[in-house]
Amino acid sequence: MTRTVYLNGDYLPETEAKVSIFDRAFLMADGVYEVTSVLDSKLIDFDGHAKRLKRSLNALHMDMPMTRDDLLGIHRELVRANDLENGMIYLQITRGAPGDRDFVFPDPETCPQTVVLFTQSKPDLADSPAAKKGIKVVSIDDIRWGRRDIKSVQLLYPSMGKMMAKAQGADDAWMVEDGFVTEGTSNNAYFIKDNKIITRGLSNDILHGITRAAVLRFAAEAQMDVEERNFTIEEAQSADEAFITSATTFVMPVVAIDGKALGNGTPGPRAARLREIYLDESCKAAI
Ligand code: PMP
Repeated sequence: MTRTVYLNGDYLPETEAKVSIFDRAFLMADGVYEVTSVLDSKLIDFDGHAKRLKRSLNALHMDMPMTRDDLLGIHRELVRANDLENGMIYLQITRGAPGDRDFVFPDPETCPQTVVLFTQSKPDLADSPAAKKGIKVVSIDDIRWGRRDIKSVQLLYPSMGKMMAKAQGADDAWMVEDGFVTEGTSNNAYFIKDNKIITRGLSNDILHGITRAAVLRFAAEAQMDVEERNFTIEEAQSADEAFITSATTFVMPVVAIDGKALGNGTPGPRAARLREIYLDESCKAAI
Protein backbone atom coordinates (compact mmCIF):
# COMPACT_ATOMS: atom_id res chain seq x y z
CA MET A 1 0.00 0.00 0.00
CA THR A 2 1.27 3.46 -0.85
CA ARG A 3 1.41 5.56 2.28
CA THR A 4 0.18 9.10 2.56
CA VAL A 5 2.96 11.26 3.96
CA TYR A 6 3.19 14.91 4.98
CA LEU A 7 5.65 17.29 3.36
CA ASN A 8 5.66 21.07 3.91
CA GLY A 9 1.91 21.54 4.16
CA ASP A 10 0.83 18.84 1.72
CA TYR A 11 -0.44 15.29 2.15
CA LEU A 12 1.04 13.25 -0.68
CA PRO A 13 1.51 9.67 -1.80
CA GLU A 14 4.98 8.66 -0.55
CA THR A 15 6.24 8.29 -4.12
CA GLU A 16 5.48 11.96 -4.84
CA ALA A 17 7.09 13.47 -1.73
CA LYS A 18 10.43 14.89 -2.88
CA VAL A 19 13.08 16.82 -0.91
CA SER A 20 15.88 18.89 -2.44
CA ILE A 21 19.44 17.55 -2.72
CA PHE A 22 20.46 20.88 -1.10
CA ASP A 23 18.50 20.12 2.05
CA ARG A 24 20.77 20.69 5.04
CA ALA A 25 19.71 17.44 6.66
CA PHE A 26 20.94 15.60 3.56
CA LEU A 27 24.22 17.52 3.36
CA MET A 28 24.96 18.20 7.07
CA ALA A 29 22.55 16.23 9.26
CA ASP A 30 21.12 19.65 10.14
CA GLY A 31 17.76 18.58 11.45
CA VAL A 32 15.89 17.12 14.39
CA TYR A 33 13.31 14.39 14.69
CA GLU A 34 10.72 12.78 16.94
CA VAL A 35 9.07 9.38 16.99
CA THR A 36 5.63 9.01 18.52
CA SER A 37 4.03 5.62 19.04
CA VAL A 38 0.48 4.88 17.94
CA LEU A 39 -1.57 2.27 19.79
CA ASP A 40 -5.23 1.65 18.92
CA SER A 41 -4.95 4.62 16.54
CA LYS A 42 -4.08 6.99 19.41
CA LEU A 43 -0.88 8.91 20.06
CA ILE A 44 1.22 7.96 23.07
CA ASP A 45 2.62 10.96 24.97
CA PHE A 46 2.16 13.39 22.09
CA ASP A 47 2.74 16.43 24.30
CA GLY A 48 6.01 15.07 25.68
CA HIS A 49 7.33 14.63 22.15
CA ALA A 50 6.07 18.05 21.02
CA LYS A 51 7.83 19.74 23.97
CA ARG A 52 11.11 17.94 23.34
CA LEU A 53 10.87 18.83 19.64
CA LYS A 54 10.68 22.52 20.53
CA ARG A 55 13.62 22.11 22.92
CA SER A 56 15.76 20.38 20.24
CA LEU A 57 14.87 23.02 17.63
CA ASN A 58 15.63 25.92 19.97
CA ALA A 59 18.97 24.39 20.98
CA LEU A 60 19.90 24.52 17.28
CA HIS A 61 18.50 28.06 16.84
CA MET A 62 15.41 26.96 14.96
CA ASP A 63 11.77 27.77 15.71
CA MET A 64 8.77 25.47 15.94
CA PRO A 65 7.23 25.79 12.47
CA MET A 66 3.66 25.43 13.74
CA THR A 67 1.52 25.33 16.87
CA ARG A 68 1.09 22.24 19.04
CA ASP A 69 -2.52 21.93 17.80
CA ASP A 70 -1.51 22.08 14.12
CA LEU A 71 1.16 19.44 14.77
CA LEU A 72 -1.39 17.25 16.53
CA GLY A 73 -3.76 17.71 13.57
CA ILE A 74 -1.11 16.45 11.13
CA HIS A 75 -0.36 13.41 13.30
CA ARG A 76 -4.06 12.58 13.49
CA GLU A 77 -4.63 13.08 9.77
CA LEU A 78 -1.76 10.69 8.97
CA VAL A 79 -3.21 8.08 11.35
CA ARG A 80 -6.57 8.47 9.61
CA ALA A 81 -5.30 8.57 6.02
CA ASN A 82 -3.14 5.47 6.54
CA ASP A 83 -5.63 3.60 8.67
CA LEU A 84 -2.87 3.19 11.22
CA GLU A 85 -3.82 1.08 14.21
CA ASN A 86 -0.42 0.26 15.76
CA GLY A 87 2.94 1.68 14.78
CA MET A 88 4.63 5.02 14.87
CA ILE A 89 4.81 8.47 13.35
CA TYR A 90 8.24 9.79 12.39
CA LEU A 91 8.66 13.56 12.21
CA GLN A 92 11.68 15.45 10.91
CA ILE A 93 12.32 19.17 10.72
CA THR A 94 15.41 20.43 8.93
CA ARG A 95 16.93 23.87 8.43
CA GLY A 96 15.68 23.73 4.85
CA ALA A 97 17.30 23.79 1.45
CA PRO A 98 19.31 26.90 0.60
CA GLY A 99 20.60 27.34 -2.95
CA ASP A 100 24.20 26.45 -2.19
CA ARG A 101 26.07 24.23 0.23
CA ASP A 102 27.43 26.51 2.92
CA PHE A 103 28.43 25.91 6.56
CA VAL A 104 26.81 29.19 7.58
CA PHE A 105 23.14 28.83 8.53
CA PRO A 106 20.77 30.18 5.87
CA ASP A 107 18.42 33.06 6.75
CA PRO A 108 15.17 31.48 8.00
CA GLU A 109 13.25 34.35 6.35
CA THR A 110 14.28 33.18 2.89
CA CYS A 111 14.96 29.50 3.57
CA PRO A 112 11.91 27.76 5.05
CA GLN A 113 12.35 24.63 7.13
CA THR A 114 11.59 21.24 5.62
CA VAL A 115 8.88 19.44 7.60
CA VAL A 116 8.30 15.75 6.94
CA LEU A 117 6.07 13.24 8.73
CA PHE A 118 5.34 9.65 7.81
CA THR A 119 3.83 6.58 9.44
CA GLN A 120 5.22 3.09 9.94
CA SER A 121 2.82 0.28 10.75
CA LYS A 122 3.81 -2.33 13.33
CA PRO A 123 0.83 -4.50 14.24
CA ASP A 124 2.61 -6.24 17.16
CA LEU A 125 4.13 -3.07 18.63
CA ALA A 126 2.66 -3.58 22.12
CA ASP A 127 2.55 -7.36 21.96
CA SER A 128 6.15 -7.71 20.84
CA PRO A 129 7.80 -11.16 20.89
CA ALA A 130 11.09 -9.47 21.97
CA ALA A 131 9.44 -8.27 25.19
CA LYS A 132 8.66 -11.88 26.15
CA LYS A 133 12.18 -13.10 25.37
CA GLY A 134 14.17 -10.05 26.43
CA ILE A 135 17.12 -8.61 24.52
CA LYS A 136 20.88 -9.05 24.77
CA VAL A 137 23.13 -6.01 24.81
CA VAL A 138 26.87 -5.51 24.44
CA SER A 139 28.93 -2.50 25.50
CA ILE A 140 30.66 -0.18 23.04
CA ASP A 141 32.54 3.10 23.44
CA ASP A 142 30.40 6.22 23.31
CA ILE A 143 32.14 8.39 20.74
CA ARG A 144 29.17 10.66 19.93
CA TRP A 145 29.21 14.46 20.11
CA GLY A 146 28.59 16.43 23.32
CA ARG A 147 24.93 17.43 22.76
CA ARG A 148 23.14 14.08 22.94
CA ASP A 149 20.21 15.83 24.62
CA ILE A 150 19.34 17.26 21.19
CA LYS A 151 17.41 14.73 19.13
CA SER A 152 19.36 15.39 15.95
CA VAL A 153 19.22 13.25 12.82
CA GLN A 154 22.96 12.63 13.13
CA LEU A 155 22.52 8.89 13.76
CA LEU A 156 25.49 7.27 12.05
CA TYR A 157 27.23 6.11 15.23
CA PRO A 158 24.07 4.68 16.85
CA SER A 159 23.45 2.88 13.57
CA MET A 160 27.03 1.51 13.59
CA GLY A 161 26.50 0.53 17.23
CA LYS A 162 23.52 -1.63 16.32
CA MET A 163 25.65 -3.28 13.65
CA MET A 164 28.46 -3.92 16.17
CA ALA A 165 25.90 -5.55 18.46
CA LYS A 166 24.54 -7.65 15.62
CA ALA A 167 28.05 -8.81 14.69
CA GLN A 168 28.38 -10.16 18.25
CA GLY A 169 25.04 -11.95 18.12
CA ALA A 170 23.36 -9.35 20.36
CA ASP A 171 20.33 -7.14 19.81
CA ASP A 172 21.62 -3.74 20.85
CA ALA A 173 24.52 -1.86 22.41
CA TRP A 174 24.92 0.19 25.57
CA MET A 175 27.41 3.00 25.17
CA VAL A 176 30.11 3.64 27.76
CA GLU A 177 32.00 6.88 28.39
CA ASP A 178 34.68 7.36 31.09
CA GLY A 179 33.74 3.95 32.50
CA PHE A 180 30.01 4.70 32.88
CA VAL A 181 27.03 3.70 30.76
CA THR A 182 25.43 6.65 29.00
CA GLU A 183 22.49 5.03 27.18
CA GLY A 184 21.52 2.51 24.51
CA THR A 185 21.94 3.29 20.80
CA SER A 186 18.29 4.37 20.60
CA ASN A 187 17.02 3.99 24.16
CA ASN A 188 17.73 4.76 27.80
CA ALA A 189 19.40 2.12 29.98
CA TYR A 190 18.46 0.89 33.49
CA PHE A 191 19.05 -1.89 35.97
CA ILE A 192 17.11 -3.00 39.03
CA LYS A 193 18.77 -3.96 42.30
CA ASP A 194 16.94 -4.57 45.58
CA ASN A 195 13.72 -3.01 44.33
CA LYS A 196 15.48 0.12 43.14
CA ILE A 197 15.65 1.32 39.55
CA ILE A 198 19.03 2.82 38.72
CA THR A 199 19.54 4.96 35.61
CA ARG A 200 21.90 7.74 34.60
CA GLY A 201 20.79 11.27 35.51
CA LEU A 202 19.77 13.84 32.90
CA SER A 203 22.47 16.01 31.32
CA ASN A 204 23.77 16.80 27.82
CA ASP A 205 25.30 13.28 27.83
CA ILE A 206 22.02 11.50 27.05
CA LEU A 207 18.71 12.01 25.33
CA HIS A 208 16.00 12.98 27.80
CA GLY A 209 13.72 10.08 26.95
CA ILE A 210 10.00 10.77 27.00
CA THR A 211 9.43 7.12 27.95
CA ARG A 212 12.10 7.47 30.65
CA ALA A 213 10.21 10.35 32.28
CA ALA A 214 6.96 8.36 32.27
CA VAL A 215 8.51 5.14 33.57
CA LEU A 216 10.27 6.92 36.44
CA ARG A 217 6.92 8.53 37.33
CA PHE A 218 5.26 5.09 37.35
CA ALA A 219 7.98 3.45 39.49
CA ALA A 220 6.11 4.25 42.69
CA GLU A 221 3.03 2.46 41.34
CA ALA A 222 5.25 -0.62 40.88
CA GLN A 223 6.50 -0.18 44.48
CA MET A 224 10.01 0.66 43.36
CA ASP A 225 12.44 3.43 44.24
CA VAL A 226 14.45 5.37 41.68
CA GLU A 227 18.08 6.45 41.86
CA GLU A 228 19.51 8.60 39.08
CA ARG A 229 23.27 8.20 39.01
CA ASN A 230 26.18 6.92 36.92
CA PHE A 231 26.71 3.16 36.78
CA THR A 232 29.17 0.75 35.20
CA ILE A 233 28.61 -2.28 32.99
CA GLU A 234 29.91 -4.52 35.84
CA GLU A 235 27.34 -3.13 38.25
CA ALA A 236 24.53 -3.70 35.76
CA GLN A 237 25.80 -7.23 35.11
CA SER A 238 25.39 -8.06 38.79
CA ALA A 239 21.85 -6.61 38.93
CA ASP A 240 18.62 -8.54 39.47
CA GLU A 241 17.15 -7.22 36.21
CA ALA A 242 17.87 -4.68 33.50
CA PHE A 243 15.80 -2.98 30.83
CA ILE A 244 15.70 -0.24 28.22
CA THR A 245 13.01 2.29 27.38
CA SER A 246 12.06 4.15 24.21
CA ALA A 247 8.91 5.36 22.49
CA THR A 248 8.69 2.25 20.30
CA THR A 249 10.01 -0.45 22.67
CA PHE A 250 8.24 0.93 25.79
CA VAL A 251 9.91 -1.07 28.60
CA MET A 252 12.02 -3.87 27.11
CA PRO A 253 13.76 -6.38 29.41
CA VAL A 254 17.49 -6.93 28.98
CA VAL A 255 18.52 -10.52 29.75
CA ALA A 256 22.27 -10.42 29.05
CA ILE A 257 25.02 -7.78 29.11
CA ASP A 258 28.31 -8.52 27.34
CA GLY A 259 27.48 -12.24 27.36
CA LYS A 260 26.65 -12.40 31.07
CA ALA A 261 23.08 -13.53 31.75
CA LEU A 262 21.05 -11.59 34.31
CA GLY A 263 19.19 -13.78 36.80
CA ASN A 264 18.23 -16.92 34.94
CA GLY A 265 18.50 -15.25 31.53
CA THR A 266 14.77 -14.61 31.10
CA PRO A 267 12.83 -11.35 31.64
CA GLY A 268 12.34 -10.60 35.32
CA PRO A 269 9.00 -9.84 36.99
CA ARG A 270 9.69 -6.19 37.80
CA ALA A 271 10.58 -5.08 34.28
CA ALA A 272 7.50 -6.98 33.06
CA ARG A 273 5.36 -5.20 35.66
CA LEU A 274 6.78 -1.80 34.67
CA ARG A 275 6.00 -2.54 31.04
CA GLU A 276 2.43 -3.45 31.95
CA ILE A 277 1.92 -0.29 34.01
CA TYR A 278 3.54 1.88 31.33
CA LEU A 279 1.30 0.46 28.60
CA ASP A 280 -1.87 0.68 30.74
CA GLU A 281 -1.27 4.24 31.86
CA SER A 282 -0.02 5.51 28.50
CA CYS A 283 -2.94 4.03 26.60
CA LYS A 284 -5.37 5.61 29.09
CA ALA A 285 -3.74 9.01 28.53
CA ALA A 286 -3.30 8.60 24.73
CA ILE A 287 -4.96 11.20 22.50
N1 PMP B 1 18.30 7.67 23.87
C1 PMP B 1 18.52 7.71 22.55
C2 PMP B 1 19.93 7.88 22.07
C3 PMP B 1 17.46 7.59 21.64
O1 PMP B 1 17.69 7.64 20.31
C4 PMP B 1 16.14 7.38 22.15
C5 PMP B 1 14.97 7.21 21.21
N2 PMP B 1 14.96 8.02 20.15
C6 PMP B 1 15.95 7.34 23.53
C7 PMP B 1 17.05 7.49 24.36
C8 PMP B 1 14.59 7.15 24.12
O2 PMP B 1 13.80 8.30 24.01
P1 PMP B 1 12.21 8.21 23.93
O3 PMP B 1 11.78 7.46 25.16
O4 PMP B 1 11.77 9.61 23.97
O5 PMP B 1 11.89 7.48 22.68
